[in-house]
Amino acid sequence: MSSGRPEYKSKTLSGLEKAVVPGNRYQVDSTLQLQKYSSVYAIGDVAAMVSDDLPKGHPMLASVASQQAAFLAKVFLDPQKNGAAAFHYKDMGTLATIGRNKAVADLGGFKFHGTFAWFLWMSVHLMLPAGFRNRLVTLLDWAWNYISYDRALRLIIRPFKK
Ligand SMILES: Cc1cc2nc3c(=O)[nH]c(=O)nc-3n(C[C@H](O)[C@H](O)[C@H](O)COP(=O)(O)OP(=O)(O)OC[C@H]3O[C@@H](n4cnc5c(N)ncnc54)[C@H](O)[C@@H]3O)c2cc1C
Repeated sequence: MSSGRPEYKSKTLSGLEKAVVPGNRYQVDSTLQLQKYSSVYAIGDVAAMVSDDLPKGHPMLASVASQQAAFLAKVFLDPQKNGAAAFHYKDMGTLATIGRNKAVADLGGFKFHGTFAWFLWMSVHLMLPAGFRNRLVTLLDWAWNYISYDRALRLIIRPFKK
């Protein structure tokens, strides 16, 4: 008897592994489509838009992933742009937290680190979740981790199959 739900069948794209470049990322062209499969897109950490300037693709950063997502959303909503528009990353600098009260910043060539960079990292990343509720939940989560010294292990342990 049918449950009324659509049935999803797993389909493997033949030769997909050939689209993978060193770093285990899919090579995409400037429209973010897989080199060998038009209409199949990859963005964020799994995508490498290899060019002469970026032989390894863009850095694996949240800002790259979110700009690519916004770009693709526009492309999908405007069929005329599909396959025609090229993605360009707007580098607004890099912020990375490297520990408790510690972060590094590289903003327009201005590099600094320490507590101020950490506060800046928090302020910027607190603005990224959509909506006030998500920001508040993130802030409370961070506050709890800070006072409880909660350091959840962020490792996924499973057999690696190639
Ligand atoms: C410890 C750490 C610190 C970082 N700090 C920074 C930083 O300070 N600044 C910065 O810009 N970037 C930072 N990054 C990098 C940033 O997190 C990534 O570049 C960004 O999250 C990439 O976004 P994404 O959407 O490609 O992948 P993800 O954010 O990893 O999202 C992928 C999603 O897909 C889901 N998923 C995976 N497999 C499946 C499946 N088979 N079916 C359904 N869902 C699936 C995952 O659960 C996940 O939710 C950090 C990364 C790490 C690990």
